[in-house]
Amino acid sequence: MNKQQIEYRRIAKERIAVLFKEADEVFEKNQKLANRYVELARKIAMKTNIKMPRKFKRRFCKHCHSLFRHGVNCRVRTGKNSVIYHCYNCKKSLRIPFVREKKANASC
Ligand SMILES: [Zn+2]
Repeated sequence: MNKQQIEYRRIAKERIAVLFKEADEVFEKNQKLANRYVELARKIAMKTNIKMPRKFKRRFCKHCHSLFRHGVNCRVRTGKNSVIYHCYNCKKSLRIPFVREKKANASC
């Protein structure tokens, strides 16, 4: 990876952060626009070949890419080994496993 690529990725991460911030602010007024921002953030991540930062990964639905607002358009529950997000938009759910945390608890 050369210098320019590193620079591109840094800028991309900044832009993703800005887009999510904007999406959050605009969510109550215009949900469609918020989802559009999420879409743009995803596109930037794909184009620059970076992983979506962990804190943003769980902020939107991976099926329909709509921004999650807990209790408003999604349901969050913990299952056996994972946190389950159920999207009200597309009625699908996504799981985020917490196996590592569970292991850490078991050892103490
Ligand atoms: Zn969805």
